[in-house]
Amino acid sequence: MEHVELLAPAGNLSKAKTAILYGANAVYIGGQSFSLRSRASNFSLDQIAELCTFAHEHHSKVHVTVNIIPHSDDLQGLDDYLRALNDAGIDAIISASPTIITHALHMDGRQFEVHISTQRSILNSAAVRFWKRQGVERVVLGRETNLDSIEAICAQDIMPIEVFIHGGMCISYSGRCVLSNHMTDRDANRGGCAQSCRWKYELFDEQNEKISRDETPYSMSSRDLQAAKYIERLIHAGVASLKIEGRMKSDYYLAVVVGAYRRLIDAIESGQTITQEFLAEISAELARAENRPAGPGFYNGLPDQNVQLYRRHDESVTQEYIGYVLEEPRDGWMKIQVKNHFEAGTPVELFGPGIAPYPQTIDEIQTLDGLPKSVCSHPMEIVRIRWNQPARPGSMIRKQRLSMPDKPETEAKDGSCGKPNPPRG
Ligand code: SF4
Repeated sequence: MEHVELLAPAGNLSKAKTAILYGANAVYIGGQSFSLRSRASNFSLDQIAELCTFAHEHHSKVHVTVNIIPHSDDLQGLDDYLRALNDAGIDAIISASPTIITHALHMDGRQFEVHISTQRSILNSAAVRFWKRQGVERVVLGRETNLDSIEAICAQDIMPIEVFIHGGMCISYSGRCVLSNHMTDRDANRGGCAQSCRWKYELFDEQNEKISRDETPYSMSSRDLQAAKYIERLIHAGVASLKIEGRMKSDYYLAVVVGAYRRLIDAIESGQTITQEFLAEISAELARAENRPAGPGFYNGLPDQNVQLYRRHDESVTQEYIGYVLEEPRDGWMKIQVKNHFEAGTPVELFGPGIAPYPQTIDEIQTLDGLPKSVCSHPMEIVRIRWNQPARPGSMIRKQRLSMPDKPETEAKDGSCGKPNPPRG
């Protein structure tokens, strides 16, 4: 069996290195030109070169998004930028623009692959074949492709296929939504999406009479994708790359999500039987990083109201990540950087690259001068904590928690918001 690639997002150099150390085979990043997620802290060319060196030393790869849908004015400097990416040592670009793709494919001395972005909404094998004829080396399928279709496309072995397995979903077709453009003048296809679908709405008739009957305003928020239980089928189907969404996400999110999928993929590829208990453990671990309830996305077909978040906009912010390990424990003490408030006596667990989560209680805290401390409430402060188990620099400490509560979806009372989705054209 070919090893599948676990592909993680990264909004800056620190996050990219975290993703690689926690098990990503490749990271995708935005450069400072021609990239969506204009608010993500995108990489300079020097940072891209530094990341390529780090990634290649760790047998990992770097994909760069060049995925705006450009207007004519946006194209200035494109060839110089592609050459600079080539010189920096990147492994692939991800693009949706035929103009950008054509320029890349015809570039002299090109060392990187050209991958077609999910923004192109490729959902069938004929579309994959079309892009193969153009000369591209990989297709990222639209998030709207269901599991049966993914298997059918992979069975034709046209070219390597990449699919999303985790992260935020559009309530609309990815790359086909102009809600944000219309409501805020921020172009979703040029990195400016204001997530207008997740706002709260009321319905009014032409006389300006409110016709939505519920107290709770209507929203079109989508559950995030969590595909742990489909990974085995995706790997056996021959998918080349499993992609995590979220270039705006934190180091903690990346460590948890990449680490959990790494464990699952390694278990599958080593021939281990994947039990329901093991899958439940992986899902519980993934839930530690989620700030929104998750679901299967389109893997089982068109999502109905049970896998969307109509009427809900609650996004919990977790503050359970409390410390980043700076040095290995020495003489029973370990130096950490504080991330969130904690006190002496807090039951925590530590996890790290190659270290599965294990519990301990922080009995004592000291300043670097050796003075006792009972509370840490200043993020970025460096302190020492009593620690008597193995840890490595880069490991993370979080408060113990059993699982993230997933509130049940509100029952539809008036039928208007609770009906299954209408067919999409
Ligand atoms: S408004 Fe919502 S559905 Fe539309 S592009 Fe933005 S996140 Fe996606």
